[in-house]
Amino acid sequence: MMSAKFRTIKGVQDILPPRTCLWQRVEDAAKRIFSLYGFSEIRTPIIEFTELFVRSIGEDTDIVEKEMYTFHDRAGRSITLRPEGTASVVRAFIQNNLYNLPAPQKFYYCGPMFRYERPQKGRYRQFHQIGVEAFSIDDPYLEAELIEMLWLLLEELGMENLNTEVNSIGCPECRPDYKKKLLNYLEGNLGSLCADCKRRYRHNPLRVFDCKFPNCKEIITGAPKITEFLCENCGDHFKRFLSYLKKLDIPYSINPSMVRGLDYYTRTVFEITTTSLGAQNAVAAGGRYDTLVEEFGGPRTPAAGFAIGMERLITLLEEKPFEPPKPDVYIISLGEDATDVAYTIASSLRREGLQAELSYGTGSLKSQLRRADRFNASLALIIGEDELKRGTLTCKRLSDGFQGEIKMTGLVSDIKRYLNHDQDT
Ligand code: ATP
Ligand code: MG
Repeated sequence: MMSAKFRTIKGVQDILPPRTCLWQRVEDAAKRIFSLYGFSEIRTPIIEFTELFVRSIGEDTDIVEKEMYTFHDRAGRSITLRPEGTASVVRAFIQNNLYNLPAPQKFYYCGPMFRYERPQKGRYRQFHQIGVEAFSIDDPYLEAELIEMLWLLLEELGMENLNTEVNSIGCPECRPDYKKKLLNYLEGNLGSLCADCKRRYRHNPLRVFDCKFPNCKEIITGAPKITEFLCENCGDHFKRFLSYLKKLDIPYSINPSMVRGLDYYTRTVFEITTTSLGAQNAVAAGGRYDTLVEEFGGPRTPAAGFAIGMERLITLLEEKPFEPPKPDVYIISLGEDATDVAYTIASSLRREGLQAELSYGTGSLKSQLRRADRFNASLALIIGEDELKRGTLTCKRLSDGFQGEIKMTGLVSDIKRYLNHDQDT
């Protein structure tokens, strides 16, 4: 007989308890805070037509060029596992006429994303994002408000050492002029650029800013800064955005080389980075995309959003000690009759909102007590033959060993007293 040992695919991972508690904590906090700002959940499919991502993210981006999970379905259509959330939300916004809802229309999503990247710390092939998209607001207060909401969440989760990096990448009006300036500059350095950047130079010169090669990085630091070539409207938008950040007390720095790895952005882009993660230091990122809805056939609709990388956030949270939930009560029973009673007690405790774990009557008293400890239960309830006869239980508080008999009738209030460390029980 052959036995196959199945393992996960490279670059994806199981998320196991107790770590899943942290995931839930982040998701719960995000949902609560996002709803304070008027965001409702949207759930879009994980698979979309490939063209959706090619057209929105852009043909010359790393994501579309080399990172997409694309396959043909049985009818020969090209399908892609979503590499990010914005394209799908914009598609849904148009397809379902969500622009008819009162403005602003605000949505959040959370779920897996897929990119065929080289797996390393903070970089996976299936990863997860919580993201938001807000539609129909031109005013730069929108971006400032999104960043404020993000900070509130990260602060609530106890995160430190965060920076907000911001930039403006202009609009279809001023960017072409800037591109010319950039091309001029790059032309003089063309010989020293990597092969990818030479190609980018021709198709999409802004993408050179994304290059990770030290050589290209150095060349690009000397390039003209886009913020110096913004048209009047974009310049004004950026200035007001920064003043709102100040007003909201959000510390930021301007990073004139940050263009983000997706083509759909206009004007404001931002990243929240941390000094605690090493190379993959962006925890969340986003920006404004005022032309995307229209490009996809919807009405002219300004919009902005961001996405949080869950794995990186969880890694940061794991640096701090955290206590996974533990049973209030571990019920130990000796013998069949006692175990039957244990089942009834567990059922009634759970109905009262107490977390009860059972030994199912297996093993000696000693080994059951050991398991109660391993579960880190607050109390052990012991039902043996003597207890059965007397209609009582032995209740042992595991933190300090305090122990006493309690009656089966009126059990719940006695247990609550033990849990609350009331020595009079
Ligand atoms: P990076 O700088 O890591 O390449 P990106 O610009 O490709 O990030 P976005 O598309 O802006 O990332 O996605 C938003 C966030 O999602 C990132 O800031 C990061 O926290 C997270 N993220 C992106 N790609 C991955 C990945 N492969 N694995 C884990 N998290 C990721
Ligand atoms: Mg990337």
